[in-house]
Amino acid sequence: MYAALRKVIQFHRPLGPDQPRPGGRPKYISPKCPVPGCNKDLVLDDELDGVSPESVFHDEWTCPSHREIFIDHPTEQVASA
Ligand SMILES: [Zn+2]
Repeated sequence: MYAALRKVIQFHRPLGPDQPRPGGRPKYISPKCPVPGCNKDLVLDDELDGVSPESVFHDEWTCPSHREIFIDHPTEQVASA
Protein backbone atom coordinates (compact mmCIF):
# COMPACT_ATOMS: atom_id res chain seq x y z
CA MET A 1 0.00 0.00 0.00
CA TYR A 2 2.89 2.37 0.66
CA ALA A 3 4.21 1.86 -2.85
CA ALA A 4 0.85 2.96 -4.23
CA LEU A 5 0.86 6.01 -1.99
CA ARG A 6 4.35 6.93 -3.14
CA LYS A 7 3.22 6.69 -6.73
CA VAL A 8 0.37 9.12 -6.04
CA ILE A 9 2.75 11.60 -4.41
CA GLN A 10 5.16 11.32 -7.32
CA PHE A 11 2.35 11.92 -9.75
CA HIS A 12 1.36 15.15 -8.05
CA ARG A 13 4.86 16.49 -7.63
CA PRO A 14 5.41 19.34 -10.09
CA LEU A 15 8.02 18.95 -12.80
CA GLY A 16 11.32 20.52 -11.81
CA PRO A 17 13.24 23.17 -13.75
CA ASP A 18 15.50 20.49 -15.25
CA GLN A 19 12.63 18.43 -16.63
CA PRO A 20 11.49 19.18 -20.19
CA ARG A 21 7.76 19.80 -20.44
CA PRO A 22 5.68 17.30 -22.43
CA GLY A 23 5.13 18.53 -25.97
CA GLY A 24 7.53 21.44 -25.43
CA ARG A 25 4.74 23.54 -23.93
CA PRO A 26 4.23 24.84 -20.39
CA LYS A 27 2.42 22.27 -18.26
CA TYR A 28 0.91 24.37 -15.48
CA ILE A 29 0.37 27.74 -17.08
CA SER A 30 -1.24 28.87 -20.31
CA PRO A 31 1.03 28.33 -23.36
CA LYS A 32 -0.08 31.73 -24.65
CA CYS A 33 1.07 35.14 -23.46
CA PRO A 34 -1.51 36.41 -20.93
CA VAL A 35 -0.92 40.07 -21.82
CA PRO A 36 -4.18 41.40 -23.30
CA GLY A 37 -4.04 41.60 -27.10
CA CYS A 38 -0.77 39.64 -27.35
CA ASN A 39 -1.62 35.93 -27.16
CA LYS A 40 1.76 34.85 -28.59
CA ASP A 41 3.09 31.35 -27.90
CA LEU A 42 5.40 31.36 -24.91
CA VAL A 43 8.93 30.06 -25.51
CA LEU A 44 11.64 28.88 -23.13
CA ASP A 45 13.54 31.95 -21.96
CA ASP A 46 16.90 30.14 -22.07
CA GLU A 47 16.26 28.87 -25.60
CA LEU A 48 15.56 32.40 -26.72
CA ASP A 49 18.86 33.44 -25.12
CA GLY A 50 20.75 30.63 -26.86
CA VAL A 51 21.64 28.77 -23.66
CA SER A 52 23.03 25.28 -24.38
CA PRO A 53 20.28 22.61 -24.18
CA GLU A 54 21.69 20.87 -21.09
CA SER A 55 21.55 24.05 -19.00
CA VAL A 56 18.10 25.21 -20.06
CA PHE A 57 15.59 25.84 -17.28
CA HIS A 58 12.36 24.28 -18.43
CA ASP A 59 10.16 26.24 -16.03
CA GLU A 60 11.07 29.72 -17.26
CA TRP A 61 8.85 30.72 -20.16
CA THR A 62 8.75 34.06 -21.83
CA CYS A 63 6.83 36.00 -24.44
CA PRO A 64 9.09 36.88 -27.40
CA SER A 65 7.47 40.32 -27.54
CA HIS A 66 7.41 41.28 -23.87
CA ARG A 67 10.30 39.23 -22.47
CA GLU A 68 8.29 38.79 -19.31
CA ILE A 69 9.10 35.59 -17.42
CA PHE A 70 6.30 33.21 -16.50
CA ILE A 71 7.19 30.36 -14.17
CA ASP A 72 5.67 27.01 -15.10
CA HIS A 73 4.75 25.87 -11.60
CA PRO A 74 1.31 24.99 -10.24
CA THR A 75 1.47 27.45 -7.32
CA GLU A 76 3.19 30.35 -9.07
CA GLN A 77 1.38 32.48 -11.58
CA VAL A 78 3.69 35.27 -12.64
CA ALA A 79 7.24 36.09 -11.61
CA SER A 80 9.17 39.27 -12.27
CA ALA A 81 9.76 40.78 -15.67
ZN1 LIG B 1 3.24 38.90 -25.06
